Amino acid sequence: MPATVIVGLQWGDEGKGKATDFLAEPVTLVVRGHGGDNAGHTIVVGDETFKLHLIPAGVLYPHITAVIGSGVVVNPETLIAELDMLAERGIDTTKVRASGAAHVILPYHRALDTAREASLGNGRVGTTGRGIGPAYEDRAARTGLRMEDLLDRAVLERKLVRVLKEKRAVLDSLGAEASPSAEPLVEQALGWGERLRPHIVDTTWLVQAALRRGDHVLVEGAQGTLLDIDHGSYPYVTSSNAIAAGACAGAGIGPLQVDEVMGVTKAYATRVGSGPFPTELHDEIGEGIASRVLNKIDILSGIDPIRLCIAYEIDGRRVEAWPSQADLLERALPIYRDFPGWTEPIHDVRTLRDLPENARHYVTAIEEQAGVPIVLLSVGPERTQTIERAWRPMRHQPVVPG
Ligand code: GDP
Repeated sequence: MPATVIVGLQWGDEGKGKATDFLAEPVTLVVRGHGGDNAGHTIVVGDETFKLHLIPAGVLYPHITAVIGSGVVVNPETLIAELDMLAERGIDTTKVRASGAAHVILPYHRALDTAREASLGNGRVGTTGRGIGPAYEDRAARTGLRMEDLLDRAVLERKLVRVLKEKRAVLDSLGAEASPSAEPLVEQALGWGERLRPHIVDTTWLVQAALRRGDHVLVEGAQGTLLDIDHGSYPYVTSSNAIAAGACAGAGIGPLQVDEVMGVTKAYATRVGSGPFPTELHDEIGEGIASRVLNKIDILSGIDPIRLCIAYEIDGRRVEAWPSQADLLERALPIYRDFPGWTEPIHDVRTLRDLPENARHYVTAIEEQAGVPIVLLSVGPERTQTIERAWRPMRHQPVVPG
């Protein structure tokens, strides 16, 4: 059975965690393909809230193998803390796997991230300071450390001695005080390796074996399409490909093995980090949405009219395609189509026909505008606060024990 990819369609925080958790139940393996602990999924099951930064959402089901693919950059401290947190809360983590080929975020990556952002002043990218970008840079420069290196003292010593010389010089030039030395870092890294040893495997083969067995695999995207390094508003983007193809590359899944891509979007847009955001609201509605943080269609109850941006005006011209060039986006004026709102809270609605009429119209308009069917609607953060719109084959597959 082929794979399903779940990907964010905006700037992240769309609720991919909730969508993945909801869709994961009948699958046997969930794999994450890119990004680092800058991503954060919040999953609410009953009264319990789980916050995950690295381990894919499927981990909450005991039958699911949760895989961190080779395209993810892993901060070992975050991974260990996440494993400990889950174990403390009674979640079985023995099936968590991390690719030996995934790159490691080391303390000097975080120091570089912070120092570089500080040096950029107003032009800063708005990174989370977690070293994601610098770790991806090292991966491309072929100077990075991979998870498998944490298991080998000789390799760690050789690689760290070589790379730290350059890192010290760059940190110094950015005015950072950190002056990392190899010895303590080797010991620290070996400690992480010892702890993570049972989890480090060749995940590409693991994922491919699952697909060969006919298991359904879910690929969990991180961040969002508009933050994609190729297709987003460069340079205000993340350091990896956040589109479905990027998630697949890092998960070890070929294009012909995917038969379904589910894009997750909020009923409105918010943006984290820096960069132009033409439809940003600077009024009390914007403040209300931002302060409520929680996203999705339930948040729009009580807002009237609801304004859907359908195109932009840039230098007097109407532009239908989203301009990824940051300075064009900076000048883009949104062109809106207004929709009447609704006042009823909709958290308890479970079928489309029970939604207020104006909410249904809004959903249909988004569908028409995007040209794709909306199959799931989220009306609240909790797992069951979901409207399943259409019959989807994967929801009806029997669970195959892992
Ligand atoms: P991700 O990065 O795309 O996985 O997004 P998060 O998991 O961080 O989601 C952002 C927030 O939205 C979290 O606090 C979720 O619990 C919350 N959330 C998800 N779906 C809904 C929804 O339908 N309604 C509301 N109000 N909040 C939601």
